[in-house]
Amino acid sequence: MTIPVIILKPKEDKRISLGHLWVFSNEIAKIDGKPEIGDVVEIRSSRNEKLGFAFYNPKTLIAARIFSKEFVYPDKNFFTIRIQTALALREQFFGSAFYRLVYGESDFLPGLIIDRFDNLFSVQIFSAAMESRRETIFEAIKDLFSPTAIYERNESGTRELEGLPQTKSIVFGDEHSVDYDEEGVVFRINPFRGQKTGFYFDQRLNRIFSRRFGAHAKVLDLFSNEGGFALNLALAGADHVVAVDSSELAMKNLESNSKLNGFDNVEGQTTDAHAFLENAAASGEVFDVVVCDPPSFTRNKKGVTTAKAGYRRLHESLFRVLKPGGTLLTASCSHHIFRETFEEVIAGAAQRSGRTLQLLHRAGASLDHPVLPAMPETEYLKFNAYRAF
Ligand code: SAH
Repeated sequence: MTIPVIILKPKEDKRISLGHLWVFSNEIAKIDGKPEIGDVVEIRSSRNEKLGFAFYNPKTLIAARIFSKEFVYPDKNFFTIRIQTALALREQFFGSAFYRLVYGESDFLPGLIIDRFDNLFSVQIFSAAMESRRETIFEAIKDLFSPTAIYERNESGTRELEGLPQTKSIVFGDEHSVDYDEEGVVFRINPFRGQKTGFYFDQRLNRIFSRRFGAHAKVLDLFSNEGGFALNLALAGADHVVAVDSSELAMKNLESNSKLNGFDNVEGQTTDAHAFLENAAASGEVFDVVVCDPPSFTRNKKGVTTAKAGYRRLHESLFRVLKPGGTLLTASCSHHIFRETFEEVIAGAAQRSGRTLQLLHRAGASLDHPVLPAMPETEYLKFNAYRAF
């Protein structure tokens, strides 16, 4: 078998030698052979040095995604070994089988996400090469875990960049919910209906961290989804928690999750977070703790200016409802807003609102979302805790 070879333009090998896994289409000097979409290709520098083996996609800006330095054929055995390696890391960290099992390039499986909810697996595919190997991936999961169900949650807009359609299906088994115990707070999750792949595992450690601010507090959890932070703060002894989300289903699940945990002080409001903040400020309502975990404000570099303005306005509004000396737990999951920028925006909003901040804590995503230091694209979540006077 001859493997097509992609030769990079001079100097374009530097980022890749450092461990970055993407080859962009404008970095390619020439291609020896005729690779088709999803095929394995070899990547070499302009000096013909071997850089690794990648999946090819001529239709997108990320023309090749490296998956190995040495040659290995991406068959079922390959996927089994990669998934096992990822599993070993999660088993070191977590006492129960609920986590992001595979986090794409960070687990050297570019374009593949697998979330595990005990015996239930929720898969999201972002690259054409993974899409063409989906049956092999499902077989590997079946052999490794004997799952009760596998769901495919391919509804992400990122798929369009790879020329892939939006799909959602039950690959195997049937639709059901599972109870996930997050160190004492139980969430009943339906990974086929929940947002994204079913649940936001990335905020797990930050939710648990948030508990230290809960005692006797009046809490506002903005962009709450199914009550991630709200229920953790209720467990920590909050007096009253208001959870806000624009999704009706999320707020319905917040209500049932509150009942499941025996909380009677958590109130869900199905509404737009900005509208809520305006009304609360108008009626002079204030909170001891405000959590703010909005969806991404921009999917590309072009949107950064608008996103910054959005974060600034949002923080200005929430400072109006945060008591002097209160705690702000705020997150950004926008890839293109770097931590420095995020912190500048918050500082600017505080200044305009006449507030003085103490930064208490900086964090990122939970341990099941490892970051490749050479690949900033694998890091997206910023989570900061502030006291605001
Ligand atoms: N903190 C949550 C995850 C939040 S995800 C957890 O730990 O599980 C972001 C949430 O924001 C989603 O549930 C989405 O429905 C909600 N959302 C998006 N736009 C919104 C808006 N304008 N107002 C209120 N909620 C919104």
